Amino acid sequence: MKGNIDFQRNATANIERFWEKEAEKLDWFKPWDKVLEWKEPFAKWFVGGMLNASYLCVDCHLYSWHKNKVALYWEDEAGNTKAFSYFQLYREVNKFASMLKNLGVKKGDRVVLYLPMIPELTIAMLATARIGAIHTVVFSGFSSQALADRINDTSAEVLIAADFGIRRGKYIPLKDIVDEALKIAPIIEKVVVIKRTEEAINMVAGRDLIYSDLIKEADDYVEPVPLESSHPLYILYTSGTTGKPKGVVHSTGGYLAYIYATYKWVFDISDESVYWCTADVGWVTGHTSIVYAPLLHGATVLMYEGAPDYPNPDRWWEIIEKYGVTIFYTSPTAIKMFMRYGEERVKRFNLSSLKILGSVGEVINPEVWAWYYTHIGGERCPIVDTWWQTETGGIMISPVPGIELVPLKPGSATLPLPGIDAEVVDEDGKPVETGIKGHLAIRKPWPGMLMGLYKDPERYKEVYWSKFKGLFYTGDYAIKDEDGYFWLLGRTDEVLKIAGHRLGTAEIEGAVVEAPFVAEAAVIGTPDPIKGENIIVFAILKEGYEPADELKKEIIQEVRKQIGPIATPQEIHFVEKLPKTRSGKIMRRVLKTIIMGNPLGDLSTLEDEASVDEVKAVYEEFKQMMSGGA
Ligand code: ATP
Ligand code: MG
Repeated sequence: MKGNIDFQRNATANIERFWEKEAEKLDWFKPWDKVLEWKEPFAKWFVGGMLNASYLCVDCHLYSWHKNKVALYWEDEAGNTKAFSYFQLYREVNKFASMLKNLGVKKGDRVVLYLPMIPELTIAMLATARIGAIHTVVFSGFSSQALADRINDTSAEVLIAADFGIRRGKYIPLKDIVDEALKIAPIIEKVVVIKRTEEAINMVAGRDLIYSDLIKEADDYVEPVPLESSHPLYILYTSGTTGKPKGVVHSTGGYLAYIYATYKWVFDISDESVYWCTADVGWVTGHTSIVYAPLLHGATVLMYEGAPDYPNPDRWWEIIEKYGVTIFYTSPTAIKMFMRYGEERVKRFNLSSLKILGSVGEVINPEVWAWYYTHIGGERCPIVDTWWQTETGGIMISPVPGIELVPLKPGSATLPLPGIDAEVVDEDGKPVETGIKGHLAIRKPWPGMLMGLYKDPERYKEVYWSKFKGLFYTGDYAIKDEDGYFWLLGRTDEVLKIAGHRLGTAEIEGAVVEAPFVAEAAVIGTPDPIKGENIIVFAILKEGYEPADELKKEIIQEVRKQIGPIATPQEIHFVEKLPKTRSGKIMRRVLKTIIMGNPLGDLSTLEDEASVDEVKAVYEEFKQMMSGGA
């Protein structure tokens, strides 16, 4: 344990020297003149250095045994498969880049990618980067409004889409959604449609073009454009869990250097890895974990298109067995779903290829951690609980088995990565003592750090740099224990203040799910003139349980036992679904606005509107009951 901590301390003492050594591991066209230009709060890393992301992810592998190894396996829910060697990927990327050039796309232009989880998405990202254009991937589950908002915000003129997405055996008419979106985002001049089916689609003359026609005219080689390190690689919107999504801009050099280093430390990734991240490429986890980091490392990436439990809940385990996945990275939400199906199903599969398991997106509570460790990892694989954000570009707090495995504590993301100066601070930005809750903040810039919010430097300063002087504000609430381990406790805007105490939603939710019949829980606070706030619990029951007052009493007991009488819930509501973002995060703000009777706010990233209707109905019924109504 000591080795890693020493490494960490030395790294943060001189971040410039430390990150320079890491950046040298990439193949730059021209070295940088200056490691860091820090004009708070704007950082430029490796100033003057020239590189190209597409060159690093494909061309670099052509001169070793990587050339003919599999770069990308793709499989869909029906069992259709594709595989691309690094050479084949290189070919496809070049042709795609040539097609973009033929459409008039130039360095600095924004290209919107509205594609399902198909290999062309990876290819399109790398092709865009190859010619120095900037990609904005819009998750293909988003509505026409969400797509239009992102097109208008980035003022992109070229859009790449597919005719259909396929999910749970159903065709999702993506091209129709595009047509709707472009009514309110007419700035798009060209739409390239990747046809996956024989179904007829609407084509607008002069605007819409078919990919397979264009690619016939494309050259098979396009020179990768040398780009200055700070040239934007992409714009990506946050998940919208806490409010309107923010358009985060990432650099080329700093971002790639950061993720190259950290994926080695956290996942021990190498060219022998078969890496599977179950996120959608439409989120930062997908950008970094399905495209850039594994390809930089010459690993084999697996890309799966489909729902996790369709046509049956064994799909994921079948795939791990079939491809010999060595690194598996998913979210607590997904694991909770599989827990509901039970471990017996998992036992039928040979998961012995797995070496490291990852978790991201939300706090993983110890019960879920234990199930993942035992039933998926066979008590053999360390779990890396990785804390990071769209804004951070890469993982910030996590165990680092690629360097040294510190003792794991289920529910804690453990320690900041080397070079990351994270701290838990009070309202004045001063470090709190061990065991005291506070805001998670980052003290020094790091190469993966966002360059800003697209065309909105003021909002960037306001959101991240106005709360504390000289500290990056993460918006998350955490506690540091006696070993310096970080425990994430939920969003700061979701922290409840009860009788002078501050309780994180994650803490209370963790206690609620300790009740053996609760599958999932979300907690919010409502104002109370005396106590400060009341605790309102929403809980999903495990299969076989029906809502009952008895169960409410048990939940109350459990919370009192785990946290104390102070955390006694005021109300408990049983629901079938919780409002979640498309990336699987609970939208507590939506629950709160329903209870408070306030306007719902930005719902563009909401997964399922039925969840909102259900909560409304449950709460209406509750209010009627309380007022003595029917
Ligand atoms: P928005 O910023 O629009 O509200 P979001 O914060 O959910 O959306 P992301 O950038 O996708 O958008 O998610 C980052 C957040 O996810 C973190 O700030 C944190 O709250 C949560 N998170 C990510 N990983 C972990 C983890 N390992 N443990 C606890 N929380 C995590
Ligand atoms: Mg956020």
